[in-house]
Formats: sequence, structure tokens, C-alpha cells
Amino acid sequence: MMLQYVKSPYWIERRSTRVVRVGDVEIGGSNPLRIQSMTNTDTMDTKATVDQIERLAAAGCEVARVTAPSIRDAENLREIRSELSRRGLRIPLVADIHFTPNAAMIAAECVEKVRINPGNYADKKKFEVRDYNDIEYEAELSRVADRFRPLVKRCRDLGVAMRIGTNHGSLSDRIMNRFGDSPLGMVESALEFLDVCEEESYREVVFSMKASNTHVALQAYRLLAARLAERSPGAPSYPFHLGVTEAGDAEDGRIKSAIGIGGLLEDGLGDTLRVSLTEDPVREIPVARRIADRAMALWPSAGEERGASFGSEFPYQPFEYHRRDTARRLCGQLVVGGEEPVAVELDLGTDLFKSTDWVEACSEVARSLSEVRDVAAESLLIDVSNRSDVARVPEVRRVLDQLELSVPLAVRMQPEFFGEGCELPADATRVVLPVAADCPPSILRAALEAVRQAGRPVEWALEAELSEAESLVRTLLAERPEGTSSEWMFSIQSAHPIQAVRSLAAWLSGGPEGTAPIVLRHSLNEEKALSDAESALIAAAVDLGAPLCDGLGDMISLGLGPIGAGAGLDLAYRILQGARLRTTRTEYISCPSCGRTLFDLEETTARIKAATGHLSGVKIAVMGCIVNGPGEMADADFGYVGSGPGKVNLYAGKQVVARGVPESDATERLVSLIQEQGRWSGEDP
Ligand code: SF4
Repeated sequence: MMLQYVKSPYWIERRSTRVVRVGDVEIGGSNPLRIQSMTNTDTMDTKATVDQIERLAAAGCEVARVTAPSIRDAENLREIRSELSRRGLRIPLVADIHFTPNAAMIAAECVEKVRINPGNYADKKKFEVRDYNDIEYEAELSRVADRFRPLVKRCRDLGVAMRIGTNHGSLSDRIMNRFGDSPLGMVESALEFLDVCEEESYREVVFSMKASNTHVALQAYRLLAARLAERSPGAPSYPFHLGVTEAGDAEDGRIKSAIGIGGLLEDGLGDTLRVSLTEDPVREIPVARRIADRAMALWPSAGEERGASFGSEFPYQPFEYHRRDTARRLCGQLVVGGEEPVAVELDLGTDLFKSTDWVEACSEVARSLSEVRDVAAESLLIDVSNRSDVARVPEVRRVLDQLELSVPLAVRMQPEFFGEGCELPADATRVVLPVAADCPPSILRAALEAVRQAGRPVEWALEAELSEAESLVRTLLAERPEGTSSEWMFSIQSAHPIQAVRSLAAWLSGGPEGTAPIVLRHSLNEEKALSDAESALIAAAVDLGAPLCDGLGDMISLGLGPIGAGAGLDLAYRILQGARLRTTRTEYISCPSCGRTLFDLEETTARIKAATGHLSGVKIAVMGCIVNGPGEMADADFGYVGSGPGKVNLYAGKQVVARGVPESDATERLVSLIQEQGRWSGEDP
């Protein structure tokens, strides 16, 4: 039987966790989601660090992490704590430890929580390939335990909490050799450390499983939840600290964070979170707040009705990526489903025909789309509300053709139209039929017959509460003409889109439309998109990105609301890239920076972006230091990693190709490296 990481994938139920106290802040249990961040000042600079913590606290940060790369830094945490107290700030502090158990032992006396990284607490990373037999592996484990046990005892005796914070980018060679660079390796790495904690009866532990790759982050947290549940069935488990590390900056950083963190929260996993952006850490707080508030609003209150239950069968693979098997649907020149890339549609809704000058409105759409580099809309969807709209569709087609926009045109029509003798417009490549739970079968039949005769794929857009949608699917399948090769697709609207899409996939599974493609729909809420663009972006990223990471969805259809067609197109492709399904832009994996950072990361990332932003599909990692730097190269084509004051190592794949490059020359050398490796393409910026 598959490991169970949630009670059911079809409704949200918060994972049951014990409460871990971090100073005055409680994490887990029924406490609200806690927001965290990390300083990026020099830890020895007490004033700068305390100033930044004060700004973070004012923005809503509830727990602040500070790096302690040396014993001196760890000792200075005491000064930082005193200065915070002098300013009347009681925010709990977390010491961030990599490589230095000695610093951890001191830090535990100065702060409320210590974060250790199992990949480097007792191991150095040398990228050695070595087979460990069981005896050697056990000996290594016992060496690691001996190194770690004193810290566990000290934290237990002092009442200090601990985060066992695994990073995909810094797994130990020992773990990599045995379990691979994988979610399983991340989980095993953390559990080895938990064994020592439990041997010492120390349970004030929080876990994290961070990765810059959204698939890996989702899978690792889920696998850990399942493994912990297996260790202690029925008991409240250890809380989770959520994060997508090295998410980058700006829109892409927010989108990746929303997909990874938001997706896990909608599984009911997570008790505290940090959004890691390559920006001033204060700017992380509102993003984290929005992601957290959105999830908490979706958590059911006690006694609330749950969605459908399907036992323990999942319609997706929670611990590895597998795209749902679907049939291909020919929508004009666009093929949706099968092995085709997830398609991008812009839902223009009723805007076109509501406009007094719809020809000008078409021109505006074409103009706006032409301004977006490297990507194109693969379908446009318009609402056809009456006979005169039907008559205008060929005109729209003609105008778009004149504007050299040969994109397929889909139409959304109410099924009732067909009962009134209305015909499908000849130029429509696909018809979207919204169906509510109370739609009479006779109307469905008339609509179905009209679409079948026209030979176009139909998308049944289910508009029903989850509790009613299942019987609606059954009604549709019962009306499905026998023996005809149908060209059906489905979408579903719900206040819980992720659970709704999973439910839809489960209802279809094994039936005559078991491989029908699924369209993921999201509309940018008019009011929200204007007043709070960041919330609108986060909602779109979670609703579309999380199912895509589960392999569900063959097309995304984005309702534009008040934003222009070009902006919608750009957002849709950024979400696909964040969900790792279509890479159409340069991908940047950049760390948020911290007190270890050896250069101005924000400025350096901006400079590298300006030089390489046109390299569609190339992945570049920009890392402040070697903690996660070399490990992240597994996911990047090129790397720029701080190696010492003013010095940078450059990577091609996992290989260091230039060491100690002066920072002043490093961007130029990176550009030359990309050119030498034959990855320089497109127009120079
Ligand atoms: S990779 Fe960046 S955030 Fe991580 S420890 Fe190094 S400098 Fe700090």
C-alpha cells in the first residue's frame, strides 16, 4: 500500500502536530502559521543585525534567523539578544548552523532555536563517489551521532528548540551515495538526526525539506510526513517549517514560493514558513503573510462538510512526478494532451464583445501579445452569449488573421443555446460548455449532438459544488453517445481548485473518459488583481502550479480580469516554468543571501540577469557561498558561487571551471563561459 502523507487528497485537513515552543512563539498544533525570515547582515555587526530584525518584526516576522558561521559569530548572538531586549523586542532568534558544531553549542546558550543542516553538521562535502557497505555505513552513522548528541543534550537541557533543516543542495556525500540526490535522500538524512533526538528523549524538533526545485520540495515534505506518520501512527507529529529555497527574486521568486509552499499548505502540511527571496528580507514578509492567510482561509472549520472520499487511492503520484496519461485532442492547429507540452490559453471572457469597438479590442489583444518575447498564446477563449456574437466569430477570426495572430479560437457557450437552435460558430476550434448540477439532460443531449456534428472537441466546464460535481460527471458519462469516438475534455470550478481537480481525475479514472485531458482554469479576480496584484499572482500560482506539479492538467486557461493579454501570457508561462513544465526563459536559482554572503547578492543577480536574461532555457545559479552552492549545480547549467571575500567560483554543470575569479571580472567570465559551452543564443540584451 502506498505511504499515506495526508488522510485524503480530496479535502484539506491540517496535519496533526505537537506544539514546539520557540521563546514566546508556539509552532504547530492549532497555532496559526508562523512567519519567519533571516537576516543578511554580518552577524558580527550587532547594530546592523538588530536594526534589520527590528524592521523584520515591524513587518510581521515572528521568528528571525541569524547565521552563526563561527564561534565568534555564535558568541555575538548574545550581544544581539541583549540589544534586542534593550529595544524591547522579544522576537525569538534562531541560529543558523552549517559545518560548525562548536558554534552550535555556544549558540544554543544564546537563542531560542538552533537550525542544523544534516548535510553538513558532521560531514564535509567533497563530491566523493564511494560505495558504503552496511558496516561502513553504520560506522559513519555512529560517528555522526557522536558529533550531534552533545548539541541535542544541550538543547534539551536548556529548553531550546531545533530545526532539522535538510536542503536538497547540501546533502552529504554519504547520503548521496546511498540514496541519491533525491527526496528519499533528504528524508533519510533528516531521520538519521531525529533518531539521535529521540534516543535522548528530545522532541522540540521542527523539520524542513527545502529545495529550489518545486517538485523536489513538494515530494520531500510529503514523503517525510508519510514516514513520520509510519513511525508514530496516530500521534501528533513534528511540525514543518516550509520553504522553497533559492527561489530567486521578483515575480519568479514569488511564483515558485507560492507553488511549493502554497501547494503543501493546501495538503494541510506546514506550521511555519519562510519565503526566500533575493531581495531585502523585509520584502519576504508580506509575500509569506499572503500565502499563509490564503491557506488558513481554506482550512475547514470544525464540523465543516468534507468533499468526496475515495479511500486511499491517489489520482497522482505524491512522491514522484508522473504526468497523468491523457489522449490527444486536436483543437485547430493546437494539440492538447498526450505527450504535448501543457498548453496556454488566455480566457478573454466577455470583454471582446462587450467593447463598443470590438475590432479595436482585437487589435489591442494582438498588440499586447506581440510585446511578450519568446512565448505565444496557444489558444484564445471568448464568450459567445447570443446569436449576434455567433455571427461575429468569423469576423474575429478574420481580424486576428489580418493582425497575423493565427492562434486557435475557442468559444464558451451556454448549453441552452443549442436547445434554441443556435449553431456552433464555424471558426471555433473547441467549445467550452459550462454545466451546472441542475442542467437538464435534454439540454446536455442537444448541446452534445450539435458539438458532435460539428466535429469539434468539447470541454465540459463543471460549475458545481464538489459534493454535486461527481453526480454531474456521471450524468455526462451516461449521456455520452455509445460507440462514437468522443473528443471530450473537462475542467472544474471550485473554491478548492486543487482538491477539485484531483477529484475530477479520480471520477474519470477507469471510465470511458479516463484519459480525457483536463483544463486548469483560473480567473484573476477583478478587484484583487487591481488592489492587490501580489495576492492575485499568488492565487494563480497556487491554483495552477500545484496541480501541474502533481501531473494533473494538459492546458492552463487564465482569465485575464483587469490585466492585459500580454501580462496574462507572461504570467501563464512563468507559472509553467515555476512548476517545471515548460522552460521558456532564463531560469535563475539565486539564494536569499545571509551573513555568510560574500558579495551583494541582489546587485550581482541583477547584473547577471541583465547580461543573460535573453538565454531562453538556460539555468544559472547565483549563490552567496558554498553551503548550498555546489549542490545547487545539480539543477543548474552554470553557477556563480562566492568562494571568498571578493572571489567567485564559476561552474559549468557540477564542475568548477574557474576558481577565485575576482568579482569585478566574474560576470564577464560567466558570459564567456556560456558562449564557450555553446549556450549563448538569441539577441544580446
Ligand atoms: S547559499 Fe546564500 S543563503 Fe545559503 S548560506 Fe550561503 S550565502 Fe547564506
